[in-house]
Amino acid sequence: MTPTLLPTSIVGSLPKPSWLAQPETLWSPWNLQGDDLAEGRRDALRIAVHEQTNREIDIISDGEQTRQHFVTTFIEHLNGVDFEKRETVRIRDRYDASVPTVVGAVSRGEPVFADDAKFLRQQTDQPIKWALPGPMTMIDTLYDGYYKSREKLAWEFAAVLNQEARDLEAAGVDIIQFDEPAFNVFFDEMTDWGIATLERAAEGLRAETAVHICYGYGITANNDWKATLGSEWRQYGESFPLLQQSTIDIVSLECHNSGVPMDLLELIRGKKVMLGAIDVANETIETPEEVSDTLRKVLRFVDSDKLIPSTNCGMAPFSRDVALGKLSALSAGTSIVREELSVASS
Ligand SMILES: [Zn+2]
Repeated sequence: MTPTLLPTSIVGSLPKPSWLAQPETLWSPWNLQGDDLAEGRRDALRIAVHEQTNREIDIISDGEQTRQHFVTTFIEHLNGVDFEKRETVRIRDRYDASVPTVVGAVSRGEPVFADDAKFLRQQTDQPIKWALPGPMTMIDTLYDGYYKSREKLAWEFAAVLNQEARDLEAAGVDIIQFDEPAFNVFFDEMTDWGIATLERAAEGLRAETAVHICYGYGITANNDWKATLGSEWRQYGESFPLLQQSTIDIVSLECHNSGVPMDLLELIRGKKVMLGAIDVANETIETPEEVSDTLRKVLRFVDSDKLIPSTNCGMAPFSRDVALGKLSALSAGTSIVREELSVASS
């Protein structure tokens, strides 16, 4: 099979159906329990696959229908973390949240998402992608009452993530994505051990690996933070040179409607780029022309065989109509640029 030029993908979440969880709410609790919940999650995953396929998304993911939260749902399945014992910490230096406590050595018993990934594999012949939290973002979402060292805990989580990633690969996942929004905040730690622990999480995989770094969902705390960043957001300038030298294959980043200067993409030349061409902080559905315009500009810095048009971040807080409209805009905008590239090369 000839690989599709400019394969499209979504970063992560899609809205959940109202029978599964409270709609248009980030991290909303489940409306079902027990076996009903397990069945409901799978039905929602089927719908997510169907909607992505109908709208010609090429790399299919589960739309995070199997997760309540992109970090804590994974941690819930690990040993050493007490979800009853809560402390308030500051997340990514931005907002306070009540979080679980690390009370002992962290480890993973059973695989967490392997069965869900196998189920996703059965639903489509297209390439599939699965997202896990990155080590630095995991430690930033917990209170550590045991290791008393962010670095030590990150290395422990990296080993656990590597076990999980190998199981996902065995389940047939083609791309394993690590979500590391913390790389846009903690530059010294990222340089000292953040990239190294991410590489440890991805070690020895045959599947392609991706790292997603964004400015977050369109929630108030993130929007307020963005307002302080000035007209040019240069945070990627810290991570990109390190990632360019790293073992990670794909860098997923926020671009459309953001303050990220596109010339920063030059710093990851040679890597595949999952490029955010859809704004997730704004309900207005992009026109295909707005999407194609962003992709065209980006192609000055990214080779066309390395560009994966995508969303800026997850779309869980949107209504289904808005999210699905944005998927259609992503495909339609990408088609325009594919057509231009094929004319140019013929
Ligand atoms: Zn994101």
